[in-house]
Amino acid sequence: MTFSPSVPVFVEVAVPLPIDHPFTYRVPLGEERRVQVGVRVLIPFGGRKMTGLVTAITDASALGGRDAKDLLAILDETPYVSGHHLAFLSETARECLAPLGETLRAALPRGLPRREAPAAPRMEAFYRASPSPPEGPMTPKQRQVHDAVREAGGLTSSDLSLRVPGGAEVAKRLAAKGFLIVSLRPRPVTLHAASLPDLAGDLSPTPGQEAALARIGVAVASGRHAAFVLHGVTGSGKTEVYLRAVEQVRATGRQAIFLVPEIALTPQLLGRVRSRFRDGVAVLHSGLTPAERSSQWRKIRDGEVFLCVGARSAIFSPFPSVGLVVVDEEHDAAYKQEDGVRYQARDLALLRGRMEEAVVLLGSATPSAESFHRVRTGTATLLTLPERIGGSGMPEISVVDLKERADRRGADRYFSPELEAAIDATLARGEKAMLFLNRRGFAAALMCLECGTTVQCRNCQVALTYHREHEALLCHYCNVKRKEPESCAKCGGHKLAQVGIGTERLLSWVSKRWKEARVARLDSDVTRKRGAYGEVLSGMQRGEVDILVGTQMIAKGHDFPEVTFVGVLLADLSLSFPDFRASERTFQILTQVAGRSGRGDRPGKVLFQTMAPESPAIRKAAEHDYAGFMENELAAREAMGYPPFGRMLLLRLSGAKQDAVREAADLVTGALSGPMSAHGVRLLGPAPSPIARVKRRFHYQILLVAPPDLPVGDLFPDLLRPLRERVRKSGVRLEADVDPYQMMV
Ligand code: ADP
Ligand code: ZN
Repeated sequence: MTFSPSVPVFVEVAVPLPIDHPFTYRVPLGEERRVQVGVRVLIPFGGRKMTGLVTAITDASALGGRDAKDLLAILDETPYVSGHHLAFLSETARECLAPLGETLRAALPRGLPRREAPAAPRMEAFYRASPSPPEGPMTPKQRQVHDAVREAGGLTSSDLSLRVPGGAEVAKRLAAKGFLIVSLRPRPVTLHAASLPDLAGDLSPTPGQEAALARIGVAVASGRHAAFVLHGVTGSGKTEVYLRAVEQVRATGRQAIFLVPEIALTPQLLGRVRSRFRDGVAVLHSGLTPAERSSQWRKIRDGEVFLCVGARSAIFSPFPSVGLVVVDEEHDAAYKQEDGVRYQARDLALLRGRMEEAVVLLGSATPSAESFHRVRTGTATLLTLPERIGGSGMPEISVVDLKERADRRGADRYFSPELEAAIDATLARGEKAMLFLNRRGFAAALMCLECGTTVQCRNCQVALTYHREHEALLCHYCNVKRKEPESCAKCGGHKLAQVGIGTERLLSWVSKRWKEARVARLDSDVTRKRGAYGEVLSGMQRGEVDILVGTQMIAKGHDFPEVTFVGVLLADLSLSFPDFRASERTFQILTQVAGRSGRGDRPGKVLFQTMAPESPAIRKAAEHDYAGFMENELAAREAMGYPPFGRMLLLRLSGAKQDAVREAADLVTGALSGPMSAHGVRLLGPAPSPIARVKRRFHYQILLVAPPDLPVGDLFPDLLRPLRERVRKSGVRLEADVDPYQMMV
């Protein structure tokens, strides 16, 4: 395109700030030919210089008579973000009711840097055995580390920690004494995945895998969008299907995105990916430095790799031509981003698949209600892997009613005879057990035995959890820590008791009851310590842990063939959440944690202890009846108009002053109720959020329940934009959450 110099050219520029609209700038004379959609530009902005992204090229009519400043510089000769990627990001912003600028900030590394920083690699220690070791003794642990290094011909400190717990520290001392030689090497950005041999790559697929791959292969070859739901129990070979589908796409010259709920929890998968695809893989995860992140992002954009493995934000991988998006454990709530742009990565995968003609493969042992509904309505195709590969079948699950033990005290209340007997029997056979409890900390709360009050967080109005490790009370919402009070703040009583259990207390009971057993704990308190997660996992892998106690974290992804018993302490703990997905989540987590039992060649057993043995989530999970559960669940959702039969939109208002927040909530409700009822939308609220005060801010929410075909992206931006501006003036933030997952805060 050529421009006549007499007609000025203008561009719309998005800035990486939470602002709803783009800004218009004039392109300096003579620069018109260099400007393209997707290039970065330097602009004057509120007295500062700022980097923005050109989203459109227009003429003076866009200004509506207003004046426009000149942009200062065009920073790229070729688009920094391709036109089709920008289109996807714009659509994401629309669907999530988020400003485009904020979406850019979430999707691009370091927002929009003016200059791309060189990727300075992080270094780490690499140890080799000394050819001339000094005379002198070594402790058994030192000997173990020394031998590991020698046998491997050299190890990095992080590889060492995976093999020998605490190995990196020991190696440091050995190097100081001259037993080992230390040098520095760049630390690879692919996580230090457990170096597992990739066995299945050479095996021939099972008939089930073959059938699934044939269907996927046809879709991939067509170059058109198709959506598949891959339903297979844990261990049925889904990962193998994903990896082969990646190979199919690679053969067509296109690229693939592989999403996992949380990358740090998938070392085994990363090991497989790395040994199969080597340098063709980029990884995006929160453990990268900003420079590493930028460098991975650039490799993806420039097509130097054909696969990106990552957590939810990897859905924004700027590949030239995405042919496949895999969403592993697609039901997992970790795909929902819970601040800033509140997107759902699985839904964005489908959006992107439609926009860019890519195949989308959603896999799970317990597909979400949304995905099951897509299969029923024909917008996705179901692929099934009905059996575990090799060895044992599904574990046998029994349910124990805990209500009968409600009047007992202490450990006795939570350990049924059935649970004790099952652990005894497992240990007697030399096998391993896992105990699942979805609450971390020592005691659920500290309660005054005089008046029944629990000690609450001053910021958040929720009960504080007692953590013995810290000898303190901790708020699970804002993380505030406080000392155990001497007396009750309400009645002054001095009898404060730790009530309920968390994983910390469970572990202490378990180690008292099974003195000979080697026990370990896995929850987010443990993994906050660097390297602790890998240590527990590698301990499990080496068979050094007899009983593993933990939260959700032990339910995910791991493959420990020696575990033949899984006990769930309180199966109904997640049922009482004020959330329409509570039942679905309970079913999913129970199925998942049960799937950890009997993955080797010995059959597994599972026990659910519960106060609510009749609840469908628990009963159906115990019967391995996914379809039965989902039919029930969908019928209940349909009756209420809840997703996937309707759309939900949660408007969250928050601020430091309660009155201001309440007034803003009333204002927004008043402004919306007319237009909403015209579109058949039910408006609930405004109401203080179930936990009204979190982190010293007050929260109100308005819930909109809309018909399933409501064009959220068309309808709301114009309605919400002025409201957002108005309430901001009174210090209140208004955030939209489309199809929310956390109904609590
Ligand atoms: P999922 O992802 O469903 O949990 P995986 O793909 O991890 O299942 O497979 C479970 C186990 O079976 C893995 O150890 C894998 O190596 C093995 N496996 C997968 N496909 C095959 C196959 N075709 N033949 C033999 N073993 C296989
Ligand atoms: Zn708090």
